[in-house]
Amino acid sequence: MSGVIESQENKDLRAAVAALGARHGRGFDRAALWSEAAKLGYLGVNLPEAYGGGGGGMAELSIVLEELGSAGCPLLMMVVSPAICGTVIARFGTEEQKRTWLPGLADGTLTMAFGITEPDAGSNSHRITTTARRDADGGGWILRGRKVFISGVDIADATLIVGRTEDARTGSLKPCLFIVPRDTPGFQRSRIDMELQAEEKQFELVLDDVRLPAESLVGDEDAGLLQLFAGLNPERIMTAAFAIGMGRYALAKAVDYATTRQVWKLPIGGHQAIAHPLAQAHIELELARLMMQKAAALYDAGDDVGAGEAANMAKYAAAEACVKAVDQAVHTLGGNGLTREYGLASLITAARVARIAPVSREMILNYVSHQSLGLPKSY
Ligand SMILES: Cc1cc2nc3c(=O)[nH]c(=O)nc-3n(C[C@H](O)[C@H](O)[C@H](O)COP(=O)(O)OP(=O)(O)OC[C@H]3O[C@@H](n4cnc5c(N)ncnc54)[C@H](O)[C@@H]3O)c2cc1C
Repeated sequence: MSGVIESQENKDLRAAVAALGARHGRGFDRAALWSEAAKLGYLGVNLPEAYGGGGGGMAELSIVLEELGSAGCPLLMMVVSPAICGTVIARFGTEEQKRTWLPGLADGTLTMAFGITEPDAGSNSHRITTTARRDADGGGWILRGRKVFISGVDIADATLIVGRTEDARTGSLKPCLFIVPRDTPGFQRSRIDMELQAEEKQFELVLDDVRLPAESLVGDEDAGLLQLFAGLNPERIMTAAFAIGMGRYALAKAVDYATTRQVWKLPIGGHQAIAHPLAQAHIELELARLMMQKAAALYDAGDDVGAGEAANMAKYAAAEACVKAVDQAVHTLGGNGLTREYGLASLITAARVARIAPVSREMILNYVSHQSLGLPKSY
């Protein structure tokens, strides 16, 4: 890759993270890798230096996740903790929130989950009903609602919850974000039994009149939507990094196998029916990465609107490339593709996550049809 696309500094970061990933590998211990990556400055690489971060951006953070994923040891909570929560607090949090959370998110001693999805709203986040009202003396908040599929609530010190407050003037509900510490009374979680082999679990949350102090509202009550969007572009860029890393991991396993496995005169990789789909998977992963780099560059340059379109496209392309690469990798290994020993079959389920979350393939196509192509809005 030329220096025009990626600086020498970022290439060095890529190589260093790849070396860390190689030391941990597929059977990694999540907590150990999390703290080692944090100590090396990788988890907070996007956070401001003044609060213990590396002063970089999404370009750097996405490199970290992609390289760990390509070594078989992705850290899913990177999508949430430094990328969404760290970004929102760094850009919009009060000085006290920045001092309380950012150094810990950067050095890995604090982790934050993110909860927007609700059972009755799903892809239509305009329908979320988790509502915050002022408590009797007007100093704090009472939060009530339900969330579903929220990752890592058990290992996170707090969850950044997207809710709504009522506009005192108009009565309409406007989005706002609250930091809810894990052990707050009324904040209940139950694990969802997922068909996913990952250490990060998903939870259903019930917020049963959760009482929060005034300072748990992030930033400004009137800037909620802006804050939310600031967090969602990093989430999409990081989901792309997650998918590209996983796709590269599976592809490398398949290439390795196709080079050595021989049942006719040539190794199986000498048959174009095996080689060409792997070459296509490689091309599609590279293309997705290029779009991810574009999205990260726009985001880091402060172009939130341009980054929005590119981040959606990157997430779409990366998820599709990942699903295809994993599918082809499993097929390349024949029967071994389905054994525990080779560990590829479980990626079939894992790869689908990037197609569904945080925004589904169809919702991105809806967005591009309407926003990019100007077709009538269908949703
Ligand atoms: C492993 C995993 C981890 C997750 N982690 C988190 C997390 O940490 N925090 C969080 O907030 N959420 C999380 N989610 C939730 C995720 O963001 C949602 O699953 C996703 O937004 C889709 O919502 P839904 O599941 O309700 O699907 P639905 O909205 O019910 O959609 C179902 C299907 O219908 C399609 N569809 C819906 N509307 C339209 C339309 N208008 N046009 C065309 N097709 C449409 C969708 O594309 C999809 O294929 C996670 C999900 C998974 C699977």
